Amino acid sequence: MRRLPVISSIKNSVQLKFAATFLILIAALLAMLNTYPTIVSRDLVFSSKQASLQNQASVMSSALSTPDKLSGETVGEVISLLDLRNLTRVIVTDDEALILYDTNKFDPSAGRYALFSEISRALGGEVVCYSVYDGEAFSTCEAMPVVSGGNVVGAVYLYEYDSEQAKLISEIQKNLLNITLVLAIAAIVLMLIFSRALTVRITDLAKATRIVSEGDYDHKIEIKGNDELTELGREFNDLTQRLKETEELRRRFVSDASHELKTPLASIRLLSDSILGAENMDADTMRDFVNDIGDEAERLQRTTEKLLSLTRMDSMAGLDLERLELKSVVEKTLRLLAPLAVEYKIAISSDLHAGCFIYGNEDLVYRIIFNLVENAIKYNVANGKVKIKLRRKNESILLVVEDTGIGIPDEDLPHIFSRFYRVDKARSREAGGSGLGLSIVYDAVKLHNGSVSVEKRKGQGTRFVVTFPAYAAEEE
Ligand code: ADP
Repeated sequence: MRRLPVISSIKNSVQLKFAATFLILIAALLAMLNTYPTIVSRDLVFSSKQASLQNQASVMSSALSTPDKLSGETVGEVISLLDLRNLTRVIVTDDEALILYDTNKFDPSAGRYALFSEISRALGGEVVCYSVYDGEAFSTCEAMPVVSGGNVVGAVYLYEYDSEQAKLISEIQKNLLNITLVLAIAAIVLMLIFSRALTVRITDLAKATRIVSEGDYDHKIEIKGNDELTELGREFNDLTQRLKETEELRRRFVSDASHELKTPLASIRLLSDSILGAENMDADTMRDFVNDIGDEAERLQRTTEKLLSLTRMDSMAGLDLERLELKSVVEKTLRLLAPLAVEYKIAISSDLHAGCFIYGNEDLVYRIIFNLVENAIKYNVANGKVKIKLRRKNESILLVVEDTGIGIPDEDLPHIFSRFYRVDKARSREAGGSGLGLSIVYDAVKLHNGSVSVEKRKGQGTRFVVTFPAYAAEEE
């Protein structure tokens, strides 16, 4: 028994891919949610702190900008007038980095030299400003030169240590982390539910494919939801239905074909047994028997030829097509059928317009015309008539074959193109028919993208109308 690739591995890989993609996406999203707001708020605090410190340093530096040499007292007086409550430490030095003023109560450094690089750089005329966030507090530093009369006469150093804002940011961070955790759990649960539902449906499809491939064409998938998988399920059910119909047709065809071949073979067997069994058969009777054997063999040959051309047409992928003028094909066919018409005492007339071109296969077109005209002759009455018309109508070419024959009963008309279908079996058999002629017509017309219809003629007889698309130069 043929097996499909292991379903669980399909399922796992789809589920895995789906879950992995989903998880990566969620992780990236949550990582951004966790870091981006913190970075933005940290940068905002940095810039607001730096602006405020820069402002205070500028005010101090311009207040200290006197032509006299800076001294501890003057600096103390100026500073007492300013509101510097937010600052952790304020240091003012003279132009030689000698500390004149320091707010550090625990280790006052006034009288010593300031060895910080910020102060040396400020004494060099630079404004130094930076902020640091260590997770617990914001430290911001600002160093600025004090300039008087174009000369650097000292430096101002401001330092702020703020744990309040840092606490706020770490609170926000904690909350974000909690939200992220809840979201991550919800996303994982949802992902599991979705991917499970998806893989269950894929597994159902794969299972159904296996069941059908094992020959159970009645198996159907339950259609649920309204998405691509639903569409796939619907397509699958349609396909199974078509497979079932094709399989039924194939079975019927094989059984009908064997039946059709069995009958002449049985006759041949019977006739030959009779010849062999009869002791003193006279030569005339024997010739009659052999003649009958020949007729049956001919019928067998005709049936097998028709069967072959039908099966060949079934597998015809690309037809050998060419530009065909139908008038000459009809005339050639009529010439070939003239002896049959004489035998059946049928008068054939034709009204064929020239210039009726199609893009077709000459052999198939010949078979279409031959089968229709042959039927019109065979299923006619003595001294009956057959008329063939060929016309161009807009973008179509019409071929009409009508007769004054025995006609086809209404209830048989819908089945007339089915394989092995015969209205009057005895008459068809007598006329050497097999019930395949019109199926060949139908298939051959379809291969030309045309259509064929049948109707009762007013009065008596039958009319077949074949429509071909007219030849258009671009088809080549
Ligand atoms: P067959 O080989 O029996 O002729 P066809 O497929 O050509 O098979 O035709 C199927 C049946 O349709 C015939 O058996 C016959 O009963 C009927 N039929 C076909 N053409 C005509 C017609 N022009 N007039 C009356 N009956 C027809």
